[in-house]
Amino acid sequence: RQLQHQNDSRPRKLINKEPTTEAMTLKAKELKKHRISLPIYTARDIIIKEVKENPCVVIVGETGSGKTTQIPQYLLESGLAAHGTISVTQPRRVAAINLARRVAEEVGTPLGQKVGYSIRFDDSSSKDSLIKYMTDGIMLRELLSDRLLLRYSVIILDEAHERTLRTDILFGMVKGIQKQRQDLIDRGRKDIQPLKIVIMSATLDAEKFSEYFYGAKIMYISGRQFPVKILNTVEPQSDYVDSALVTAFQIHQCEAPGDILIFLTGQEEIENMEKLIEEYAIDLPPTVGKLIPCPIFAAQDTITQQKIFEPAPHGTRKVILATNIAETSITIPNIRYVIDTGCHKSRGYNAKIGIESLLVEPISKSSARQRMGRAGREAAGLCFRLYTEDSFDQLEEDAIPEIKRCNLESAILSLKATGIDDVTRFDFMDRPSKSGLLRSLEHLYALEALDDEGKLTDIGTKMAAFPVDPPYAKVLLQSDKMECTKEAIEIISLLSVDTIFAAPSSKREEANEARQKFTSLDGDHLTLLNTLRAYESVKGDRDWCRENFINSRHMRHVLDVRKQLIQFAERSGMDPKKTCGHDLEIVLKCFLAGFFQNTALLQPDGTYKSILGGLTVSVHPSSSLFGKKREAIMYDELVFTTKHFVRGVSALESNWLSQAAPKYFGQRRA
Ligand code: ADP
Ligand code: MG
Repeated sequence: RQLQHQNDSRPRKLINKEPTTEAMTLKAKELKKHRISLPIYTARDIIIKEVKENPCVVIVGETGSGKTTQIPQYLLESGLAAHGTISVTQPRRVAAINLARRVAEEVGTPLGQKVGYSIRFDDSSSKDSLIKYMTDGIMLRELLSDRLLLRYSVIILDEAHERTLRTDILFGMVKGIQKQRQDLIDRGRKDIQPLKIVIMSATLDAEKFSEYFYGAKIMYISGRQFPVKILNTVEPQSDYVDSALVTAFQIHQCEAPGDILIFLTGQEEIENMEKLIEEYAIDLPPTVGKLIPCPIFAAQDTITQQKIFEPAPHGTRKVILATNIAETSITIPNIRYVIDTGCHKSRGYNAKIGIESLLVEPISKSSARQRMGRAGREAAGLCFRLYTEDSFDQLEEDAIPEIKRCNLESAILSLKATGIDDVTRFDFMDRPSKSGLLRSLEHLYALEALDDEGKLTDIGTKMAAFPVDPPYAKVLLQSDKMECTKEAIEIISLLSVDTIFAAPSSKREEANEARQKFTSLDGDHLTLLNTLRAYESVKGDRDWCRENFINSRHMRHVLDVRKQLIQFAERSGMDPKKTCGHDLEIVLKCFLAGFFQNTALLQPDGTYKSILGGLTVSVHPSSSLFGKKREAIMYDELVFTTKHFVRGVSALESNWLSQAAPKYFGQRRA
């Protein structure tokens, strides 16, 4: 059916007639008024004209001016979706969902019809969707089945300034596809339409994008910005979570109405902060209104997410707890106060030793300015920077593009799977380092995704199609051979959330004790599995979850991911029911086939040293192997806070290693 659709060059029937005035609900009227009031509205006609006349346009506009929600609608209204869907890519899942929901509302059709979204493990679009918000990762995956993206008429690459690895790869891919489509048209193919490319960015340095896209025209959209006063701390803060908490309560008690936005680094931190605020808010004097924490992160149900956009009840104040997502991707109304911790979590890759880790790092000046700007959207505001003026001066001007500092394995797999064999000659906007490329190629070879000549193997082709990173994809493929697909899928699903355990700071000991019941001597992978089994045996009972300190929201998310992975395995001809029964050692060996690089050996002094890179690593206190000494360990991720911690840790026997990755360990010994 899809093929038919792709070859069908007849214009699709457009059903975007304006609803009649009588039929317009109050909400729709309100939304229409909102749309017209946005700064970008005055540029509507010229944007449409430029996009129609040029193959590629770069649009720069202040955050909140209306780029992401309005431009796709303008293009739709002007008939540009007649030969295919308008796609808008986003680096973040939460943004894709929220923006699609908002735009569906503005367009006036239920989400998933004219306007939909598609993110990993969740697709709410249909083949009739005319506007589709999607993550850059999903777009890369679509390329595997639709090499020329014929399903699309316009590709909008949004948040280009963020320079995520995937968006960067997409730049090169869509540039090539645009040319290929044009070549086919020039050769007389009547069934193919040109592809339009729109690049959108929130920062002014757009020349680079323009140069890369053959000198594309840059359009500047001015926003509406009120003055924001910046307050730096006098001393450096040792604990920014604590000072953010104190600052929020000070604002709440001393400053005029208006909501607060706190920038934190990740879900765990956000959830901790939520609990802390709830605990402290109890002690507020009765004369002061309520302070309501509103967290936002990916693993949340949609209703909770919706809450951040709703006004706080009269006399209360909201405090939004967010990561970088609130920097430029989504604009939350009514923020007057911003608390900037100065940090974010970023993927770091040491190409020399080939180790990737998640680091809490200082943001760039341009991020700090964006964060500040969030306070002045509707009135003058205040920005509390929890760092000194000196520290600000020392920040980098801009963040380094991700392609220069992260692991390139999934990107290389995507490139190879779409027929780009010589990745070193790919048209990168910024070239990744040679050593980084080589390391990643080596790892893919060790994972058996590439052969001796660097060509994609059958395994590699399958891995590229899986909606998970290469090591997890390898585990899934291996699980088919080792007959433990059920367990592998379950553990990967469990690892997809930050943690399934709840650990309120006031009841940490009780929580630890409750967890003992599920703890496996072999470590976290099997502990997680035990917990899931217990959870399912009581059918996810909420009281049981509370008594056992299980985060039921995250557990539901795990079940959702599992469902998706099962469907995916079935579609790729695997049997997701294959189980190893009680012989769970097999599951660990299976994981080792994907994670042989994430291993460390016990040293005589009791520390662990990573096999790759010889880094001294410590088992994270949240792990069931914390404080235990085992001959060898395998871990899911490496994080750096005060030192290198490994999380998601299981014990191994060192003789399993060479069996798990003969190519890797053979090569090492040589
Ligand atoms: P840009 O992409 O230029 O940063 P957007 O198109 O995302 O701007 O947002 C335009 C306006 O729409 C913002 O001022 C914001 O307040 C409003 N908006 C966007 N999403 C929502 C939502 N879910 N609820 C309420 N208002 C929203
Ligand atoms: Mg935007």
